[in-house]
Amino acid sequence: MSETTPAISPALVNGDVSFWYRESGIPARRPALPGDLDVDVALVGGGYTSLWTAYYLKKAQPDLRIAVLEKEFAGFGASGRNGGWLSAEPPGQMRRYAKAHGPASAVALQREMFSSVDEVIRVAGEEGIDADIQKDGLLHVATNAAQQRRLRERLPSLRAEGWSENDLVELDRDQLAERVRVAGARGAHWSPHCARIQPAKLVRGLADVVERMGVAVYEGTEVTEIRPHQAVTVHGTVRATYVIRALEGFTASLRGHRRVWLPMNSSMIVTEHLPTHVREEIGWRGAELLGDEAHSYCYVQRTADGRIAIGGRGIPYMFGSHVDQRGETRAATQVQLQAVLRQLFPSTEGLAIDHTWSGVLGVPRDWCATVHLDEKTGLGWAGGYVGHGVTTTNLAGRTLRDLVLRQETDLTRLPWVDRTVRGWEPEPLRWLGVRSLYVAYRAADRHENTGLGRTSVIARLADVISGR
Ligand SMILES: Cc1cc2nc3c(=O)[nH]c(=O)nc-3n(C[C@H](O)[C@H](O)[C@H](O)COP(=O)(O)OP(=O)(O)OC[C@H]3O[C@@H](n4cnc5c(N)ncnc54)[C@H](O)[C@@H]3O)c2cc1C
Repeated sequence: MSETTPAISPALVNGDVSFWYRESGIPARRPALPGDLDVDVALVGGGYTSLWTAYYLKKAQPDLRIAVLEKEFAGFGASGRNGGWLSAEPPGQMRRYAKAHGPASAVALQREMFSSVDEVIRVAGEEGIDADIQKDGLLHVATNAAQQRRLRERLPSLRAEGWSENDLVELDRDQLAERVRVAGARGAHWSPHCARIQPAKLVRGLADVVERMGVAVYEGTEVTEIRPHQAVTVHGTVRATYVIRALEGFTASLRGHRRVWLPMNSSMIVTEHLPTHVREEIGWRGAELLGDEAHSYCYVQRTADGRIAIGGRGIPYMFGSHVDQRGETRAATQVQLQAVLRQLFPSTEGLAIDHTWSGVLGVPRDWCATVHLDEKTGLGWAGGYVGHGVTTTNLAGRTLRDLVLRQETDLTRLPWVDRTVRGWEPEPLRWLGVRSLYVAYRAADRHENTGLGRTSVIARLADVISGR
């Protein structure tokens, strides 16, 4: 990687939720819960999981009384901060779903992921949500020999999990260069099942749509405890037949839930508008999403207004499952992300970084997302999407609709429904474990960058320990 001084713009905005709110501004707050309330369904959190669930429930049964209870504003969390990959990447380890429920169940889940991408696009179109959506697919790019070998070796299992030759295409370096020129690329996988979105526009649009449908969206309303048929907030208690926890990366901040899902941090930077010579050099005319095959991988999009946004792990986890609310990124992480950007696209050298921010996503101990509803207590949840929540939240919303309406459907039979997952280790083991694993993954990436033709033994060991 180049040692030149990174061009972090003096006007750089750090945090302030995310760059995605820069165009529209942080939305004005909706009123808080006015006091105690009785509803049919209380949704805790105001991100995609909650809003998709509200949307599909209202569509199916317009007379349902539904309340969304959000601590800040709808879209404050990962739903308003993510990398905008509306992808069909599986929300967990398919081999685990397949082991527990049979290979056909994992294939069924993958097929639902494919169609969920189109379902989000369909609803956005039907409801007039303009979220800069463009479906040009997803590129997984190998930038060294070990990454190339991993791509090749993964292909048979992907085929077995339902990725046909139309769902996943191998590209050699020249075919990749026709779409985008990535320095040192040795080849890629391209899948058509992915669209670029502007995350905040999607979540804001969804919140407006459900509100118009008659869902009560209460903002500035922190839920302090969830009990059977009750969500206790700072402004009063909401009694409900069903209380759905939709907090993903914030779950650990709720009493009694500290070890359920690990709040994993992810950070992003966005460049200034790409000048013509950089655009010509990179040649990225479509809206393909792009990621590398490093263990501490990055995710990249070309924004609708002609910048590059790139994200990665940075500081993956804070002691005690602490969550930084303001979403600031540490200087060292900004520099790291900029170095990855320069490595992939050397012509971005010297470009200013206009904004950096961070957010949290939820990771279960077995790295597999879950949807659950308990009839007796009325408590339900969905999450732990391990960084693939943009599409999966839509599938979760439709699945929760069927569970709440007590309909047994293809969705309620999917292998991620009603799974029991053990919690994370107590501190300091949790912090030590996650921090060391990410040190190991970075060391493995460095090792592989030296020309090693296979996956580093450090990464193999880290995968076994992490269960990833
Ligand atoms: C930087 C980043 C990049 C990502 N990139 C991608 C990507 O490109 N593609 C992809 O598929 N996934 C991505 N993800 C993951 C994806 O964004 C999430 O999985 C998804 O948005 C989760 O949605 P959610 O509604 O479950 O949770 P969230 O959107 O996090 O919503 C939870 C809400 O709960 C609120 N809340 C917190 N505590 C309380 C409380 N006590 N009471 C009431 N409300 C509370 C929060 O304010 C928040 O609005 C990314 C995540 C991050 C952080």
